[in-house]
Amino acid sequence: MPAPKPIHVLSDHVINKIAAGEVVERPASVVKELVENALDAGATQIEVEAVGGGRQLVAITDNGCGMGRDDALLAIERHATSKIQDVDDIEHVATLGFRGEALAAISAVSHFTLTTRPAADLAGTELVIAGGKLADVKDAGCPPGTRIEARRLFFNVPARRKFLRADATELAHIRQMFVVYALAHPEVGWRLVVDGREAMRLAAGATLGDRLRDIVGADLARQLRPLDLTRHDITVRGYAGQPAAARQDRTEQYVFINGRPASAAAIYHAINEGYHTLLPPGRHAPIFLFIEVDPEQVDVNVHPTKKEVRFRQPGAIRDAVIEAIRRALQPTPTTGITSSLLTMPPPTTAIAASAEQQIKLLIPDLPPPRTFQFPGLPMLPPSAPPPTAVPGAAPPAAAPTPAQELKNAAHSPWLWCRVLGQVGGLYVVLETEDGLVLMDPHAAHERVLFEQLLKQYTSHAVKSQGLLAPETVELLPATAEAVRENLPLLREMGFGLADFGGDAFIVDALPACLGGASSRAVLAAIAESLAKGGARGGSARAVEEAVAQAACKAAVKARDVLRLDEIEQLVVALARAEMPYTCPHGRPTIIFTSYGELHRKFGRA
Ligand code: ADP
Ligand code: MG
Repeated sequence: MPAPKPIHVLSDHVINKIAAGEVVERPASVVKELVENALDAGATQIEVEAVGGGRQLVAITDNGCGMGRDDALLAIERHATSKIQDVDDIEHVATLGFRGEALAAISAVSHFTLTTRPAADLAGTELVIAGGKLADVKDAGCPPGTRIEARRLFFNVPARRKFLRADATELAHIRQMFVVYALAHPEVGWRLVVDGREAMRLAAGATLGDRLRDIVGADLARQLRPLDLTRHDITVRGYAGQPAAARQDRTEQYVFINGRPASAAAIYHAINEGYHTLLPPGRHAPIFLFIEVDPEQVDVNVHPTKKEVRFRQPGAIRDAVIEAIRRALQPTPTTGITSSLLTMPPPTTAIAASAEQQIKLLIPDLPPPRTFQFPGLPMLPPSAPPPTAVPGAAPPAAAPTPAQELKNAAHSPWLWCRVLGQVGGLYVVLETEDGLVLMDPHAAHERVLFEQLLKQYTSHAVKSQGLLAPETVELLPATAEAVRENLPLLREMGFGLADFGGDAFIVDALPACLGGASSRAVLAAIAESLAKGGARGGSARAVEEAVAQAACKAAVKARDVLRLDEIEQLVVALARAEMPYTCPHGRPTIIFTSYGELHRKFGRA
């Protein structure tokens, strides 16, 4: 056992250096703190400079309210702030800062210069601090506002310095921080200067839409749908990306709570839920989420950098975010045409007029017809000629021809199209008014069946189709248990299902829209998803999951050879889908290449 060591109180100097470690982790943290101060000071113009990845210099210049000399001297003390008086104030703090730690921390671990002047004062003040010790105070001729320079960050904390990464990495963090705040404040003008060169300049007084376009580029901006939802005292605004724009990580996901960049597990969970059935696991759509809630509902004081926040009622926030995303992605004729990637600009009148004639089958002989019933799709008799050639030949019951239906589809990805055939024994090739479309028939069919069955389920109108011969389906013990627990759900989905004892079930009916699917395959797949998800029966998620599994098993297989009329029916059905662009597991149903893109690739300007 070691001998007890004497206890002593740490000197302020040591305390400050330790505390600095909590607030300042890397050059980007300096940018964050100083930018927040500039915003709190009411700046309308903010400039961020970095040299050598921010290790040599981080400087922030603002045109905010500035400080008189006494305040400037106080500002660099620990726990000195103008933003709160009392603990209770934290509950409704409207400023980004309030802990009074940043300037003390940064000046403790850098060569620090603060130059500041309130507009009303004739002269400004300059403070020079090195490693936390005040070295100089003097008058300075400077414009109204504040400039803070932090040079040689961590010069006196070698342990910290070692953890800094390559300049390029540190710079990437700085850029990211800059972008976050520039997005949060489109009304402010911003400039980023890297190693003496201007890297970004963003004009003041912009709208969020303008700012987004400037930052993420026009291509991504085109794939964003506006979010706008108010639920009680929660407002969700911003933009949500189409599933097609998704990527592997969350780098394009920005969350702001009451104007403060923030992260909260509840929000990320809600984003995933919002995109559930639109994206496969592990894919993340870009999203710019601005949530406004009563400040008393958020605890921002969980972490010194205030990044992690907690909600008093995470459930309400979560629901609002999910609903906002779902609504935004719901295509409507008006938003669809203007802002979705795959919906096309309005056609020229010539094209519109000829829409009826445009579903043409160019290649008369596909490989030998293999009669495949498209469950859930209106069947044309196998010998039916292309409907446009002999309009009257359509069966009497099927009133609209596919061409008409296509035109009627409110959120159709195309206004007219022509089926060119199937390539690689798999992909369907379509010509549309605006480009070339490749369609995966399995994914497309899955989407169509998924929406049909889900719609019927939610409106309690599932049509069930009795099997000619009831089938006994033997399941694995764990999945059998899941089926047993969810029997009511499965019956509501249209399954005729009875427990046969052991791990076996008798199936005597299937949802009619699944057509001649194998009851064994469908049931086994649903059972597995129910068992794996541990989802509560009847929860929206469990139902979606189960319906998605059923749709997957009932859909045409990837390598099935399709007749042209079958392809045509599938194209029509997909065009009528609410969310035609992805299968319920989030894989794309169609890949679109615009003529513009082709022209570019062929070098036609
Ligand atoms: P906090 O922001 O939590 O109050 P800081 O250490 O970041 O703590 O800043 C201390 C105080 O210095 C602030 O409360 C503010 O009054 C003043 N201050 C800091 N930066 C600026 C600035 N850019 N313009 C005007 N005042 C500033
Ligand atoms: Mg601050």
